[in-house]
Amino acid sequence: MGPPGAGKGTQATAVAEHFGIPAISTGDIFRANVGQGTPLGVEAKRYMDAGEYVPDEVTNNMVRSRIAESDAGAGFLLDGYPRTLAQVTELDSMIQATGHQLDAVLVLTVDQEAVVTRLLKRAEIEGRADDTEDVIRRRLEVYAAETEPLIAVYGGRGLVVSVDGMGEIADVQQRIFAALDDVPES
Ligand code: AMP
Repeated sequence: MGPPGAGKGTQATAVAEHFGIPAISTGDIFRANVGQGTPLGVEAKRYMDAGEYVPDEVTNNMVRSRIAESDAGAGFLLDGYPRTLAQVTELDSMIQATGHQLDAVLVLTVDQEAVVTRLLKRAEIEGRADDTEDVIRRRLEVYAAETEPLIAVYGGRGLVVSVDGMGEIADVQQRIFAALDDVPES
């Protein structure tokens, strides 16, 4: 977890590779669907372009079918999910049904203004439709209102592993691995 621009996608790929599990990024799946013009993509695009969350039901159904795929059988890393309380509840029932267990909730902490700068830079490089300054500000607001409270929820379960997400990618990665070393594997 972490606000838009915290580096979740970059770090998720490295962590998943290290543990030999898939990184399941809801944002990437939505973007792939938008790119292919699927009905899911057409629906998701309206929300994404405005910086809003795609409705829980749509997102939950997508994650449920993704984690049922065979490559996720031995475990998986979720990047960008859950983002709402309703998604937390749904994830709980999904992982219970598949016999998995949540080992850790990794939170990347970053400075808000640095994040806006990072995202504007990414906009230049990748040209994402939701990386304009207005939409970035809206995404940060939505994150603060809908997603930040989940840190306390998972904190109450003793699952939160907080890592400083500022600095070089490789340094952040090292901090993440060091922090995850202390987490018992299920
Ligand atoms: P991301 O690449 O993780 O920043 O996600 C890009 C966009 O996809 C978000 O701004 C949302 O519109 C949508 N999205 C990704 N994950 C979720 C989620 N768990 N719940 C709702 N919308 C999501």
